[in-house]
This record gives sequence, structure tokens and C-alpha cells, in this order.
Amino acid sequence: MSKIALVTGGSRGLGRNMSIALAKKGLDVILTYNSNKEAADEVVAGIQALGQNAYSLQLDTSNIHVFDTFHQQLTNLLNEKAGHPGIDYLINNAGTALYAPIAEVTEQQLDDIFNIHFKGVFFLTQKLLPLINDGGGIINISSGLTRLTMPGSSVYAAQKTAVETLSRYMAQELGPRKIRVNVLAPGAIETDFGGGRTRDNKEINARIAGFTALGRVGLPGDIGGVVAFLCTDDAYWINGQRIEVSGGQGL
Ligand code: NDP
Repeated sequence: MSKIALVTGGSRGLGRNMSIALAKKGLDVILTYNSNKEAADEVVAGIQALGQNAYSLQLDTSNIHVFDTFHQQLTNLLNEKAGHPGIDYLINNAGTALYAPIAEVTEQQLDDIFNIHFKGVFFLTQKLLPLINDGGGIINISSGLTRLTMPGSSVYAAQKTAVETLSRYMAQELGPRKIRVNVLAPGAIETDFGGGRTRDNKEINARIAGFTALGRVGLPGDIGGVVAFLCTDDAYWINGQRIEVSGGQGL
């Protein structure tokens, strides 16, 4: 029987690539989307074409008040399709960008980033813990910006740093259940993130490529396979680690 991974924000960008890479490794995938059902459906169809099971559910990961309902929907889906209410891997990937200098950040902007990048990750993981099979894993998506400092990313990077610390605590506390918890920190990648500026703004793209050892910015395909690897038995001894996947940005 295939193992099952749940990917938040699996409809586009990195989550989409992760979902497909997981299916290529023989996992079934449940992916969530926020508003883009059509894009999620495309990913589901792509995975089914690979011969794995895939389903999508709507979830706003920044709103903890919908997590009870999501838990129920997920349990129902798993019972119906897999015959048991368990997943093997949780990938906390969904996220939005904020580029604003410290002098201009509003309380609302800070709350929005906190809600999606920390509070949502914390309480969604807490809510789903009973559904994660012992021996499974959690991957939290951070950012190269916790190591590199780029003006305008203070609030976003600080929340990602919080998730990195949280991940070590998760790894410690979930060790008795043999659940491994790791952080994957992508460098700048060409997706829709932040209005697609890494992909679409030639000046930004060239500047990032200029301080990347491998000479270009990242592509979604640089990330998904690493996540998929972390969800295999080959990675069973990797735990509590931050793995940066950036082609060597800002070395
Ligand atoms: P994209 O903007 O391409 O995709 C974002 C995904 O998150 C979509 O699937 C979107 O769903 C979903 N999403 C957005 N808001 C919410 C919400 N409130 N609740 C639930 N889901 C939501 O971003 P990326 O794929 O580039 O980013 C994915 C993760 O990677 C984020 O955590 C980001 O911080 C991190 N990251 C990205 C980097 C980059 O350069 N791209 C670099 C380092 C880290 P929908 O399609 O329905 O809108």
C-alpha cells in the first residue's frame, strides 16, 4: 500500500512540484489549495496519470478556526479512500510573501505573515498529529532568508526562523513516535511567490543569480525531488535538520 503525503499549498509553485515528485516516488498525495481549485485539480490529474491516488481539499492555513472542519474532512476522505484515517507525511508548505521595510510594516501585515507562516503551521500540525502514522515525517518549508539578509524581508524571515526552531522542538517531542521532522529551506525560486518577482523581474533575477554559486536562480524542479527523498525510508536517519536547497546562494 502506498504511503500518503499531505502537502499544503500543493496547487502551484513549489507545492505543486513536491506533490508530483512525491507521486513519482510512489506516494499517494492529498494536496490543499486556498482559492485556486482549478490549479489543484490539474495537479491531481497529473498525479493520477502517474498511477498514484491524489485528492485535493480547500484549506486556508492562515485561519486556525477552520482546522476542526478540515480535520473532519480529511478524516472522512482517508476513511473513504484509504480505509484508515492516517497519513505518513505532512509537508507544511503553503505561504505568502511580504516585502516591506521595517519602517513601513503595518500590524496587519505582520499578523498576516505570522498567521500563515507560524501560527497556522503550529496549530495545523498540532491538529493533525493524531492522524500522522508513527514512523512518518513532517517537513516544514522555511527559506534561505533565515541565513541571508535581504532588506524588506524582516517579518517573513523572522517567522521562518521561528518555524526552524519549532521544527527542532517537534523533532525532539515526536521522536518517541519515530516521526522525523526536518526543515527544507529553498533559496529564491521562480514561482508566483511575491507576485512572481524572482521569475519576472529581470533585474532581481540577475542579481540573485549573481550571488548563487551555480549561477542561476532556483526552479520548482530543484525542490520537489528533495522533499520526496525526505519522504522515503532512505532518509530515515535525517532528523531535526535544516536543509538549504539554494544552489549555493550567498556562500
Ligand atoms: P506560490 O505563490 O507559487 O504558491 C503558494 C501556494 O500556497 C499555492 O498553492 C496557494 O494556493 C497556497 N496558499 C497561499 N495562501 C494560502 C493560504 N492562506 N492558505 C492555504 N494555502 C495558501 O509560492 P511558492 O510555491 O513559491 O512558495 C511555497 C512555500 O515556499 C512558501 O512557504 C514560501 O514561503 C516558501 N519559499 C518560497 C521561495 C520562493 O522563492 N518561491 C523561497 C523560499 C521559501 P492557491 O493556489 O489556492 O492560491
